[in-house]
Amino acid sequence: RKLGYAVVGLGYYATQQIMPQFRNCEFAKLTALVSGTPEKLARYGAEYDIPRTHRYDYQSYDRMSANPDIDIVYVVLPNAMHAEYTVRAAQAGKHVLCEKPMATSSAECRMMIAACREAGKKLMIGYRSRFEPYNRLAIDLARSGHVGPSRVITAQHGFPISPDQWRLDRDMAGGGSLMDIGIYSLNAARYLTGEEPTYISAVESTDRSDPRFREVEDRIDWEMLFPSGVLASCVSSYSSPHNAYRVTGTQGWIDLEPATQYSGQAMRVSKGGTIEPRSPVEPGKNQFVGQLDHLAECVVTEREPIVPGEEGLRDLVAIEAIYRSAREGRRVAVAAV
Ligand code: NAD
Repeated sequence: RKLGYAVVGLGYYATQQIMPQFRNCEFAKLTALVSGTPEKLARYGAEYDIPRTHRYDYQSYDRMSANPDIDIVYVVLPNAMHAEYTVRAAQAGKHVLCEKPMATSSAECRMMIAACREAGKKLMIGYRSRFEPYNRLAIDLARSGHVGPSRVITAQHGFPISPDQWRLDRDMAGGGSLMDIGIYSLNAARYLTGEEPTYISAVESTDRSDPRFREVEDRIDWEMLFPSGVLASCVSSYSSPHNAYRVTGTQGWIDLEPATQYSGQAMRVSKGGTIEPRSPVEPGKNQFVGQLDHLAECVVTEREPIVPGEEGLRDLVAIEAIYRSAREGRRVAVAAV
């Protein structure tokens, strides 16, 4: 059977990107909705044929424990709410898919991992790029040394943010561009190397007279050193559009731009003096379907997801090191997780 998902938080990402994808899933289906807004429950409940008994608000949330049609709870709320709703889902006996960033601190991540472990439930983080065919090809090419051993990675992520949203509220977002979009640069450098950074050196540059950035950072750029000697140079911005990465090895480079958008990925590979476009031989499922099906398959086959809670924790540990380095103006060692 297909496993049932409850989607929590009916905002942009849940309703416009995730929910329409269930119809293409092999192992997952949408069986319940959670929202604090009755009109959204009525509208999306009708659109997706979700019975009233399977529509919840934040007060009735814990009653999902009694609903056998819900196997997995997908938390798509503002960042500061991820920890509470992940823990409550695990305590209600459900597996959890939680959006990135996993939480607003590494301490919260550890609590979420412990709660899911205690409940005997799986926890996966919504790192959709790991299921995106071009990114998977880039990982294969980089890690197999297609352009020689990797030496340098550049990764840039950003967009000009519009005002008036929770992303600019420090308490809700946990930070600025780094928590939201720069995390893609960080995560890509980690998945392209398959290594964990040892040292981080960061610089923040934010125009605090811009009303959008009263509470959170705009630009934060950093360098990360990996054990094999790869140096990653990363950009995170809330004031300019970036979506690209390049892995340079001893014999060439692999370039993806756009790299982690919802669609439209394009790859070029430079090797032996020629530059050629590349694409996956068998594209397979798109990243959204791949992600939803993966956790369902992991539950059924009792495997660990490729992006478990620990992956989210490692990013948060690195994010804390990036902020600390920028604040203290010095190179910071990253603690092993
Ligand atoms: P959004 O603002 O569109 O949606 C957030 C939802 O949470 C809204 O429906 C809102 O009503 C609800 N909510 C409940 N309590 C709230 C409160 N106290 N304050 C504000 N909103 C509250 O945001 P979004 O873009 O859908 O982002 C939601 C989560 O998904 C974030 O963690 C974000 O990082 C993540 N996200 C991931 C991707 C991705 O590609 N993986 C893309 C977009 C967003």
